[in-house]
Amino acid sequence: MNKVKKIAVIGAGLGGASMGILLQKAGFDVDVYEQASVFSRLGAGIHIGPNIMKIFREMGLEKDLEEMGCHPEQWISRNGNTAEVIAEAPLTGYGAAYLTIHRGDMHARQIQELQQDKLHFGKRLVGVEQHADAVTLRFDDGTVTQADIVIGADGINSKIRETILGIEAPLYSGWVAHRAIISGENLAKLKAQFELDDCVKWWYEDRHIMAYCTTKARDEYYFVTGVPHPAWDFQGKSFVPCDKAELFETFKDFHPSITAMIDASDNVTKWPLNNRNPLPIWSHGRLVLLGDACHPMKPHMAQGAGMAIEDAAMLTRCLVQEGLENYQQAFNLYEQNRKERASQVQKVSNANTFLKTQEDPSWVYGYDVYAQPLHAEVPA
Ligand SMILES: Cc1cc2nc3c(=O)[nH]c(=O)nc-3n(C[C@H](O)[C@H](O)[C@H](O)COP(=O)(O)OP(=O)(O)OC[C@H]3O[C@@H](n4cnc5c(N)ncnc54)[C@H](O)[C@@H]3O)c2cc1C
Repeated sequence: MNKVKKIAVIGAGLGGASMGILLQKAGFDVDVYEQASVFSRLGAGIHIGPNIMKIFREMGLEKDLEEMGCHPEQWISRNGNTAEVIAEAPLTGYGAAYLTIHRGDMHARQIQELQQDKLHFGKRLVGVEQHADAVTLRFDDGTVTQADIVIGADGINSKIRETILGIEAPLYSGWVAHRAIISGENLAKLKAQFELDDCVKWWYEDRHIMAYCTTKARDEYYFVTGVPHPAWDFQGKSFVPCDKAELFETFKDFHPSITAMIDASDNVTKWPLNNRNPLPIWSHGRLVLLGDACHPMKPHMAQGAGMAIEDAAMLTRCLVQEGLENYQQAFNLYEQNRKERASQVQKVSNANTFLKTQEDPSWVYGYDVYAQPLHAEVPA
């Protein structure tokens, strides 16, 4: 049999793009299908821990990202009202840099690294059929393709998850996040009034606001909140614009630097934080899941994309070790070697306790997916 073995990745988000790059670098024939017709630089930052930078090293992107992002030396947790430091965690010494960066900049660099003729925009997956020897994929533009295995990196509303486990809406967590960028003159004025930490989380009562630089030059600052909100009342939208008056009211008991930061911000958006209970299975037949398609979480540990990228690295390792023809063993090995860690991060992130008090974060940042021995459970 000399048929070329093909892999399809659904979704070119932070997890899917990583999956495509790692598999292509390992020599697999991989096509990536993304529903969006183009990606825009949406106003949001992201933390990339050393656990993830070790994977960007493998992708050949570590140096480029280091040049783009800010390198905070500490994560500082402050009392939101008094600004008193309640915890401080070092962000150096874990075998790679800790970066805070603009999410769009990082993603654009990832997209550039994919084989461009294997990246297909404007392809919304609408149908999946598994056969004995392949999977048929149908897209909303009427096109159809086939692959030997299909990796669902298609986010919290994953079509691949739905195919494996049935239709089930995500759970609204009862929390929203506000996001906004501060730049230019507004940032200069803010800096003249207050000394801004490179990476800080302000905690007070039931809500918090996390703020950090998104560029090496520190010429862009970003905040993201976590606020209880009884019901998500903007059905069908993944985010909505938010009036600053609502934010002033939400953070009225916070330190004056927070009011000033809100005042200085550009467009504020508001996002529902959705979730799912742990899935009973991560793969079925020729289909396998990663990232938010598999274990979405509230973002309070700043490791959601991190877990998607760690999944991509582990799944690549398993496919390389077992070979594509033994995809079932590879999928089992992947699940056995990812479930415990992803579930632990999901649990702590959902509980929003990480670095609320002094603790050692090296279990998160010191992790190296490439240094983990692959454990295979012996069937009973
Ligand atoms: C407010 C907020 C702040 C966050 N901050 C951080 C942080 O600092 N650090 C961190 O690590 N994580 C953070 N996260 C979490 C992180 O954004 C997600 O965990 C991460 O984006 C998941 O990546 P993914 O590739 O699995 O899914 P996604 O990024 O959702 O990508 C899925 C992709 O699949 C595409 N797609 C979906 N359906 C289809 C279809 N049917 N056909 C084709 N394509 C499809 C989508 O268009 C999208 O491009 C944050 C999340 C939120 C909400």
